[in-house]
Amino acid sequence: MALPKHRHSRTRQAKRRTHYKAKMPNVVDCPQCKSPMLPHRACRSCGYYSGRAVVTVKTT
Ligand SMILES: [Zn+2]
Repeated sequence: MALPKHRHSRTRQAKRRTHYKAKMPNVVDCPQCKSPMLPHRACRSCGYYSGRAVVTVKTT
């Protein structure tokens, strides 16, 4: 396997890592309870998916 001949400087390492960014998750509104939820997953607040209850939500 190829080996790097010289190490990259901290500046060059930092320049590469400027593209490493945290991005916000895609969020949609639940059609059942209108709370924000992740798409293609059961709603965390009402437990609905595709118009019916699929999981029971724990209420503390
Ligand atoms: Zn919901």
